Amino acid sequence: MKEVLLCKCGEIVLKGLNRRAFEDRLVANLRRRVRRVADCPVSLRQSVLFVEIPDEADADAVMEEVLRVFGLASVCRASVCEKSLDAILETAQRYLADELAAARSFKVETKRADKKFPLTSIGVSQHIGGELAQRNPHLRPDMHHPELTVHVEIREQYAFVHAGPNPGAGGMPIGANGRAALLLSGGIDSPVAGYMMAKRGLELVGIHFFSYPYTSERAKEKVLDLAKILTRYVGRMPVLVVPFTKIQEAIRDNCREELFTIIMRRFMMRISDRLAADYNCGGLITGESLGQVASQTMPAMAVTGAVCNLPVFRPLIGMDKEEIVRVARKIDTFETSILPYEDCCTVFTPKHPNIRPNLQKVLESESRLDADALVEEALSGVERMIPD
Ligand code: ATP
Ligand code: MG
Repeated sequence: MKEVLLCKCGEIVLKGLNRRAFEDRLVANLRRRVRRVADCPVSLRQSVLFVEIPDEADADAVMEEVLRVFGLASVCRASVCEKSLDAILETAQRYLADELAAARSFKVETKRADKKFPLTSIGVSQHIGGELAQRNPHLRPDMHHPELTVHVEIREQYAFVHAGPNPGAGGMPIGANGRAALLLSGGIDSPVAGYMMAKRGLELVGIHFFSYPYTSERAKEKVLDLAKILTRYVGRMPVLVVPFTKIQEAIRDNCREELFTIIMRRFMMRISDRLAADYNCGGLITGESLGQVASQTMPAMAVTGAVCNLPVFRPLIGMDKEEIVRVARKIDTFETSILPYEDCCTVFTPKHPNIRPNLQKVLESESRLDADALVEEALSGVERMIPD
């Protein structure tokens, strides 16, 4: 039986004049995403996106891809048929045979986008409901709390039958709100932060600071593995790998120990701010959560944020670790994040980091370094990678 996914848009329906641009972007994103698994025609009619599933395609795989596309509120997997009562009835009986057999109570709900169709929605529901009840005598009609709702949608060209919507990924289409740079470490938090901001319609460019030989080649691969998992949700995401060893050694050799981490983080932000501008990004994203570690206190974030021109988004700021882990598991980054490879943040960590750094003291300590030259040198060694 011919199957189709009926995808309903989420928040973008509210966007007035921008709606067209949002919808076009959503269609493009959806096309690109399903192309990973099958050659499915995608079209937009009356604010519903239709993903046609060719006979030879793996419908489950297509559905899985579509459920990860941001900007969709719900996705119905439906069977297509001619717009006649007989065809609708036969399709419902065959397409939903398993659901009809398993349920004890049911109802039929009809939506009529084609107002020229000769029967009203209620008329269609009554007819199909009556026939299905006769053919499936174990089923009790229940208008209030049915175990199964048979949905019939009568649209311009065809009718569609399905067992109800699945929740879509929500959010806004990737790119609808521009592009931002994600500071991606190998930890649990930053991939979750990237996922959350991509959900709000941001395209991502990853930035990773790499301190070879203090951190291993395997640690870099781990970050690329995380980026690859993220691409399932966020689409294509280049990762810029920044050589960070020399900066860390310079800090270790010249700055006050209790300020190592904070100064290091200021370099990360400075370099990211520059790279972000080169890549047309309108903001930076980090996986910081208030008070989680010494560098994530409010005064510490003020001192690190002070070097940035772009806004810094910290979507995890008010989340507990447990909540973050729950998202990491859901998006499948958790198992990779907990692999035991060192991050450059754990190299030269002070024994007693200052949790209330004072900007003046930080500037004093930092003045022993030629920050501009160190930044330029790091920028000249950036390696751009595309997780495949
Ligand atoms: P995560 O779990 O994401 O590693 P964390 O709790 O370990 O975070 P920190 O190590 O203090 O926290 O890092 C805070 C944020 O700084 C990270 O979420 C990430 O956005 C950024 N960051 C840290 N290390 C790196 C790195 N090596 N490359 C790029 N960004 C980094
Ligand atoms: Mg980390």
